Amino acid sequence: MDNLWSDRDARAAVKRYGAAGIGEDLALRVYTTRLLGGEPRLVQHGGGNTSVKTVMQDLTGDAVEVLCVKGSGWDMASIEPPGLPAVRLDGLRRLASLPSLSDEDMVNMQRRNLLDSTAPNPSVETLLHAFLPHKFIDHTHANAVLALSDQPDGAALCAEVYGARVALVPYLMPGFGLAKLAREVFDKHPDCEGLVLLKHGIFSFGATARDAYERLIDLVSRADHRLKRGRK
Ligand code: ZN
Repeated sequence: MDNLWSDRDARAAVKRYGAAGIGEDLALRVYTTRLLGGEPRLVQHGGGNTSVKTVMQDLTGDAVEVLCVKGSGWDMASIEPPGLPAVRLDGLRRLASLPSLSDEDMVNMQRRNLLDSTAPNPSVETLLHAFLPHKFIDHTHANAVLALSDQPDGAALCAEVYGARVALVPYLMPGFGLAKLAREVFDKHPDCEGLVLLKHGIFSFGATARDAYERLIDLVSRADHRLKRGRK
């Protein structure tokens, strides 16, 4: 799988969006989300979602820590900044202390914490992004990772391919429970570069947009190579 990162294109995105008042974090988040969305082998099975943690000003001029996370109704391949609505991070993180949260209450709390109340609904996987500490998080339902982890010995295969680079999260429907579980798994493997959610997809993390993107490409490529080797 090709790494399509280009310093020139990244700088052009920062400049283009910057002229419209969009900060560098969100500009680069849009740039690499489009790179992921343009690769069908990464997003064929229901796409994925991405996020960045950054600081924005609310209407009163106060600086607010937010999670810009993919919203519903946007295609990753053609996403623009409004497709990554800003959600107050503090309001999301506080939910982690709850023992449980229904899907309806989760959607409501995500909307209540939007900086712009007219923004699209943040992804159903918003809390998973919010509960993890990393600045840039990339997630797709990559074909190769699904093909590997869907096998009867999928967990063992993933462990063989990734070693300590990736921690494995057992299958759970997306929602509050999965977000808490992913954070628990991460806390036991704080040096991992990503998570494989068995029968679901892959997450990669990074301090920069480039790190998270290149890790995702590398991790998925490794699954791809292992599958090709297995078929021989
Ligand atoms: Zn997913």
